[in-house]
Amino acid sequence: MTKRALFLISDTGGGHRSAADAITAALDEIKEPNAFDHRVEDVAAHCSFPLTQLGLGYSMALRYAPPVYGALYYATNGRRRYKALVRFCEPLYRERLRDLFIRYKPDVIVAVHPLLNHAALRARADARMLHVPIVTVITDLGKVHESWLTPDADAVVVPAHEVYERALSRGVHPSRLRLLGHPIHPKFDDVVGTKAELRDQLGLPQNKAITLLMAGGEGGGKLLPTAIALSRAHLPTHLVVICGRNETLQAKLAELAADRPSPMTVLGFTDKIPELMRAADLLVTKAGPGTLAEANAAQLPVVVYDYVPGQERGNVDFVRDNGIGDIAIDSTAQVVRAVERLVKNAERLKAMRVAQEIVAPKRSSRRIARLIAQIANTGTIPDENVFVAPLRTVVSL
Ligand code: UDP
Repeated sequence: MTKRALFLISDTGGGHRSAADAITAALDEIKEPNAFDHRVEDVAAHCSFPLTQLGLGYSMALRYAPPVYGALYYATNGRRRYKALVRFCEPLYRERLRDLFIRYKPDVIVAVHPLLNHAALRARADARMLHVPIVTVITDLGKVHESWLTPDADAVVVPAHEVYERALSRGVHPSRLRLLGHPIHPKFDDVVGTKAELRDQLGLPQNKAITLLMAGGEGGGKLLPTAIALSRAHLPTHLVVICGRNETLQAKLAELAADRPSPMTVLGFTDKIPELMRAADLLVTKAGPGTLAEANAAQLPVVVYDYVPGQERGNVDFVRDNGIGDIAIDSTAQVVRAVERLVKNAERLKAMRVAQEIVAPKRSSRRIARLIAQIANTGTIPDENVFVAPLRTVVSL
């Protein structure tokens, strides 16, 4: 018999869909005692206005007015303030979500977006489906937003020790909490080949350090000025700029690349991030939680040059506090200096890779998928997996 898992996401940025896709890929590997049918639903897109515009609003706010987004984030980040927001939004989603539950008849519901946790709990009650467990998979690091923390969810999966502590402090019972890591795609665990072989496959030079430059799935923010500054700086490294879905930026940079003093590679959205990260020596990135978790898995030290105000601030602290990279968020000149220092300092890069090895739980998506499967099959969170919080260590399921 096949069981059904319903994933609730919103296409704000690329991270939530990437996380859901990572878990569903791992769920597809499970065949015993039953296989899983799954559906990833961009809930906001099917609700009433203005929720339908959430994805577009998010992209526009980040592209043209990040401080406005940051102000909104902080304004709603309090227990009572967040409750008021939920009450305001409820009429916009309640019926659609309830109908979705009734139509799909899931055996487990997985919320991979902060705004959908409380919504899922209410809609489940409306649909009279209290027997269907709800699992929250938190995909932010550090001091995560209030909306992520739902003590009433049947299980809460967290990516890092800091978030585990925050969830406890917000009343999530330890028996429902699991520290399994950020859900990165299983293909990050499965990359084969040496650095030299991977560079060969990717058409990258063998005789130079390689620095990747990324800005999440959308490729916005300070990516253009940072790429220009790095490409002008005569650094002893080959630059690979990954523009994600930002085709305008890709075209602009490809044109610029032609007359740069040092060659650089410009890519659009690529599915080769696992291979690129294993082939590279350094990653310069916006503080997206997905990209940072992937870099940890690939043991690729980072320089953070940008972050989404509010939402990704905790990720910046996570990088600094765990010693997995440098922070250069003040100016492009600071980014250039940080990259220059690091590519010349093999010892520091090595220390960062060791810190990444400690901080990155292995096989995260496969373990999250196994937990979800167990919950779907039994209707409860399995006892034997209770996580007793040792500092910075992870238990295997
Ligand atoms: N990504 C990708 N190909 C690209 C650019 C980005 O697969 O060309 C993926 C990246 O590996 C990560 C996700 O997009 O899994 C970005 O998620 P993150 O949380 O870092 O940032 P967001 O896009 O949500 O701001």
